[in-house]
Amino acid sequence: MHATPFELLVAVVLSAQSTDKGVNKCTARLYPVANTPAAIARLGVDGLIPYINSIGLFRNKAKNVVALSEILVREHGGEVPRSREALERLPGVGRKTANVILNTAFGEPTMAVDTHIFRIANRIGLAPGKDVVEVERRLEATTPAEFLRDAHHWLILHGRYVCVARSPKCGECVIADLCEYRDKNLPAAKPSAVARKPVAKSPTVRPPARAKGMQPMAKTSRAGARRGRSR
Ligand code: SF4
Repeated sequence: MHATPFELLVAVVLSAQSTDKGVNKCTARLYPVANTPAAIARLGVDGLIPYINSIGLFRNKAKNVVALSEILVREHGGEVPRSREALERLPGVGRKTANVILNTAFGEPTMAVDTHIFRIANRIGLAPGKDVVEVERRLEATTPAEFLRDAHHWLILHGRYVCVARSPKCGECVIADLCEYRDKNLPAAKPSAVARKPVAKSPTVRPPARAKGMQPMAKTSRAGARRGRSR
């Protein structure tokens, strides 16, 4: 939950290896107290930790959030810069976080490739690439411009809830017919009602028992024919 680019930036930095729910709980307590670079810088690391110590790596995250807040105050007039280079120079901000800020806070058509998007882009055949930068470039090149702002969120949700890492839910996937993954996790086809119905066994047709002394038909016929020719 964020109301400003700075609130989004802090939430994304806090979110590494943590759930959205956990981060939202922290920021719901923190932002009413401090939601600007100047206020977080004033809190300092020890003042920030009590608000975020329920999430993983909180000490390191506290150091990064305070350090980036100080840089924003000192070098950017307390604003989040709208530049990839400036964003990536902030502590705790890598390419993915910079892309999220550029996309979500500033409306830039960037594609933040996280672990989910990297996996599904390769698995589905949507934008195969050996690293996140290659996947990012392919997705940016192939996604229609009008969808570029939202595609990042849709792909993350698809990877998080449907095309999950271990056992993708192919049986309920709306793009199963378009997906190129060869090992789809589809439920085995149920046999149809007709196929399940036991088929009545046809009675074995046996030739009628031959009466004692009776010749087989073929022999009888051939014998009759011979008799006819001899007449
Ligand atoms: S069909 Fe399966 S592997 Fe393909 S996108 Fe859907 S869930 Fe993922």
